Amino acid sequence: MTGNAGVPVRQVFADYDYKSQEPHGHVNRFCSRCGSLNNRLPSGRGIQSICSWCGFVTYRNPLPGVSILIEHEGAVLLGRRIPGSFGGGLWCLPCGFVEYNEDILGAARREVFEETGLTVELASIIQVTSNFLTSDLHSIVTVFLAHRKEGALQPGDDIDALEWFPITGPLPPLAFEADGEIIRRFGAMKFEGLAIEEPTT
Ligand SMILES: [Zn+2]
Repeated sequence: MTGNAGVPVRQVFADYDYKSQEPHGHVNRFCSRCGSLNNRLPSGRGIQSICSWCGFVTYRNPLPGVSILIEHEGAVLLGRRIPGSFGGGLWCLPCGFVEYNEDILGAARREVFEETGLTVELASIIQVTSNFLTSDLHSIVTVFLAHRKEGALQPGDDIDALEWFPITGPLPPLAFEADGEIIRRFGAMKFEGLAIEEPTT
């Protein structure tokens, strides 16, 4: 599939055959409400974990994440992931998971600040992706375009180096396939993306 500028478009990134996997794997063995053993029973959508005592159904869903493309004078900011993290030593857009008590906009601003020391203005949503990274790590990531406001570059959290790279490449080795796709597509098309709520302070 190609987009309206002939640039390849993808939303699904999978490092394994996720459709053939048992969705609960080794997790959800016990009921999250009463602690009894769950039964694994077939249902319309595959295998469900249903409590053998109280009948409570435990669902397993992908983790919601955010990723932020910070553009500055034709460059994009990438961070190098610390050894021992997923994709350690490889580079990525600032990113992370949304906490239960925050919204996606707050999560994006927080992750940027924690990993880069910058405060940013979120400009738009430029992509949403399904990332099947491992059989235990499936995320759905909203990707924002952002512009720097203030702060000095200071790597933090699971990032140990920060560097600006030309948005049209070449890019360093990336931890997530989706990041390369997002940066290449944005560099080629420079689209505005989907407008978002007015930034809050
Ligand atoms: Zn139960």
